[in-house]
Amino acid sequence: MIRLQSYLSGRWQDGEGEGAALRDPSTEEVVARTSTAGLDFGAALSFARERGGPALRALSFAERGAMLSAMSKLLHTERDALIEVSAKSAGTPRGDAKFDIDGAAGTLAYYGSLGKRLGDRRWLAPDEGEQLTRSSRFWGYHIELPLRGVAVHVNAFNFPAWGFAEKAAVALLAGVPVVTKPATATAWLTYECVKRILDAEILPEGALSLVCGGAGDLLMHLRSQDALAFTGSAETGRTLRSLPNVIEHSVRVNVEADSLNSTVVAPGVERGSEVWQLFVRDVAREVTQKSGQKCTATRRVFVPTELLAAAQEDLVEELKRTKVGVPGDEGVRMGPLTTAQQKTDVLAGIRALMDEGAELTFRGEAPEGEGYFVPVSLLTQPNPAQATQVHQLEVFGPVATLMPYEGVEQAIELVARGGGSLLATVYGDDKQALSELILGLAPHSGRVLVGSKKVADQTTPPGMVLPSCVHGGPGRAGGGEELGGLRGLRFYLQRTAVQGDRALLARLLDVPRGD
Ligand code: NAP
Repeated sequence: MIRLQSYLSGRWQDGEGEGAALRDPSTEEVVARTSTAGLDFGAALSFARERGGPALRALSFAERGAMLSAMSKLLHTERDALIEVSAKSAGTPRGDAKFDIDGAAGTLAYYGSLGKRLGDRRWLAPDEGEQLTRSSRFWGYHIELPLRGVAVHVNAFNFPAWGFAEKAAVALLAGVPVVTKPATATAWLTYECVKRILDAEILPEGALSLVCGGAGDLLMHLRSQDALAFTGSAETGRTLRSLPNVIEHSVRVNVEADSLNSTVVAPGVERGSEVWQLFVRDVAREVTQKSGQKCTATRRVFVPTELLAAAQEDLVEELKRTKVGVPGDEGVRMGPLTTAQQKTDVLAGIRALMDEGAELTFRGEAPEGEGYFVPVSLLTQPNPAQATQVHQLEVFGPVATLMPYEGVEQAIELVARGGGSLLATVYGDDKQALSELILGLAPHSGRVLVGSKKVADQTTPPGMVLPSCVHGGPGRAGGGEELGGLRGLRFYLQRTAVQGDRALLARLLDVPRGD
């Protein structure tokens, strides 16, 4: 059993007492312990602001990018060791562990190369500006400089590597030091990633700190130049954004929360066509990958009424192929849920969906006895317009509900009942239907993926978050936005309008084409 420590104020520190127990989800055995009791988070945030901030701001984008590239290479080199920790601490088969760890390395590499492209500047180049009055001398520019505080990142249990890296990459490239706090249940993998990065001395002192365990009073120390990026449940998100000091100091908060993501098969798709097969493969993957514990997993599947029976048959056939069991065992593609609480919640969620009329179309097999295993479940809700739970309750496990719809307008209306999602996936080739669906679903979604014939063999899986595209969603998804290339940096930068003599400002601000 390993005792995890936090890295604060430039040194490894252990909390008081026995601490929280982290369990192997396949065996329920305690594999690690961690405590943050008694740790001085106020001092840790000050250290990051005072040491990490200036050191990062003194570097150019290219230099910060080079650090991210080095972090990426290191995680890639250490991949096998990290996969092993992922299996023990999160119950992930190799494929699921790679999804998390390669996602971390890939996102760091992407922002590394973005830093290289941004080059020698230390802050983003101003726009070309605008004439503000009748005089062509009096001009206004907007400049964007890194906040002088610290970025505190609070992450969910389901992506201990990627969740850490996707947030850290963006903040570090922007020039803001990071304090990362993984969810306690799976903090071991984040600890292993951070420890390797710190041991390799890639980053300046104070640029990266780790809170391994409960948050304690960490967030009470946030001040006006700090930023809080949170991923987790909508309920915790609400608590964090309404903390008195967060409100008092207008601390920037980004929330990535629950999401009832949808898949819509557009009218005109034929059973057995390439697009249909893509739809079936994608839904089965989204339901079972990471045991359905993915914020981008498909929860609601809408098909034209006349295709409901075909969708049931083909999805069941595909889902049957997923063997559930202990990671590493022959043929196992899906592992257990991560915690005992997750198992309780998922089983209760399935019951709640069935209590309002959803029928069980498929229930797979899963090991019984020790371990937090649950079977894959496909439900069918024949009356989606009357049902409410299916549009509001995020069952965070290997569960999806199939529903019929009549006409594109109703499909959009049903998707919108989710109250805002990270993702909607649309399958089809009918241009008119696709256009209506894209434009109708976009206001309710952070991302829309269109699976059509010509990209059927090229598209990335719907649930895969790419660093070049924004990740986040309106409403219940938290109203946040992360990644999206350069867009993501703006959360960590202060945009300031600077007004004055155009020629003077252009020189002082190093405007690329100023005159
Ligand atoms: P959670 O219970 O809300 O916990 C998330 C994080 O918040 C953990 O690090 C947790 O720490 C911390 N936390 C909880 N209460 C806190 C408090 N009062 N002060 C400071 N920190 C606090 O969520 P989860 O169960 O880990 O994650 C599952 C949820 O995350 C799902 O609903 C899923 O949809 C969502 N999710 C969303 C995205 C996205 O990008 N939108 C991505 C992944 C997951 P401890 O673990 O130490 O309690």
